[in-house]
Amino acid sequence: MRIGFIGLGMMGHHMVANLQKNGHELVVFDVRREAGEEALSRGARWAETPADAARQSEIVMTSLPGPKEVELVALGENGVLAGAAAGLIYVDVSTSSPTLIRRIHQVMGERGVRVADAPVSGGVIGAEEATLQIMVGCDADLFDVISPVLRGIGDKITYIGDVGAGEVAKLCHNQLALVVQQAVAEALTLGTKAGIAPEKLLEAIRGGAYGRSGGGIGPGLERTTLQGDWDRPRFALSLARKDLGLATDLASEFGVPMPLAAAAEQALIECLNRGWGGKDMTAAFALQEDRARVQVRVKAPAKT
Ligand code: NAD
Repeated sequence: MRIGFIGLGMMGHHMVANLQKNGHELVVFDVRREAGEEALSRGARWAETPADAARQSEIVMTSLPGPKEVELVALGENGVLAGAAAGLIYVDVSTSSPTLIRRIHQVMGERGVRVADAPVSGGVIGAEEATLQIMVGCDADLFDVISPVLRGIGDKITYIGDVGAGEVAKLCHNQLALVVQQAVAEALTLGTKAGIAPEKLLEAIRGGAYGRSGGGIGPGLERTTLQGDWDRPRFALSLARKDLGLATDLASEFGVPMPLAAAAEQALIECLNRGWGGKDMTAAFALQEDRARVQVRVKAPAKT
C-alpha cells in the first residue's frame, strides 16, 4: 500500500523501516528533515507537508510526541485533512488523548476519511523488531483493513473497541507501569536502607507470593479478584493491614518516604472500618470499585 508516515523519531523510524521491509511504498514527513534520510535511502519519498503526504497515500500514520502535535498534524494548516481525499485512512500510533482522536474521527469522518487510534507498547526494541503490542480503536470493519498493515510493525494486534478505546487501554497500561515502578522503588529503597542486600531482597520478593503472582496481573487476577471472590479469606485483610503497617513503621524508622505504601495503608484502614478485616486482602479492590462507582468483572476462566 501507499503509506504516508509522519513523525520519524525513536519509534517512527523503525516502524517506517519495517513497513518498507513489508513491501509498502512510503511517503515520509517530519519537522526534522534529517529524520527521513534513512527511509529516503531505502526508496521512500519525502513529503513537504502532512497534507502533501496525505495526497500521495492510501493510509497516513502518525507517530508524534503527544496531543498537541497530533492535533496540529491531523487538523492544522497543511495538515493531513487538508490533503485528504474521501477514502483516506488515518491511523495515529502515538500515545495521545482518546478525546482528541474521537474529535478527529468526527471531523475527518465528515470528509469521508476513516480514523483509527493504534497506540503501541514494547519500546524502541519492540519497534525495531516489529514485536509491538498494538491497541486498536476503530470501527470493526476498518480493523480488518488496517490489521495487515499493523502486522508489519507489531506481532500482538488487539482490537480494543471503538475509536479512542486503544488510547484508553494504552493510558491504563502506562499508568500501571509507572505506578508499579514507583512501588518497586519504595520497596527496594526500604529494604536497602534497612540493611538488606538488593540481590537477596530481589530473590526473596521474586520467590514470594507477590513475585509468583505475575506482579498482580497474572491469571489469579481473573480467577479470584475479578470474580469478586473476597468473602472467602485466603490471606485476611486484617493481616495484610498489619503487614503494611509494619512496613511503613520500618520506613519511618529508617527515614524512607513511602507515599504509595502510605496511600495503600489508608485504603486498608478504610476497609477495616467497613468491617472487612475477615475478608480476603483482595477486598481492597472492592474499595476502589466503590470509590470509582464501577465494578470490574470478567467471565470466569475455564478450569485447567
Ligand atoms: P520522538 O520524540 O523520538 O519522535 C517524535 C517525532 O515527531 C520526532 O521525530 C519529531 O521531530 C516529530 N515531530 C514533532 N512534531 C512534529 C510535527 N508537528 N510534524 C511532524 N513531525 C513532528 O518520540 P518517540 O519516542 O518516537 O515516541 C513517539 C510516540 O510513541 C509518543 O507518543 C510516545 O509516547 C509513543 N511511544 C514511545 C515509546 C518509546 O519507548 N519511545 C514506546 C511506546 C510509545
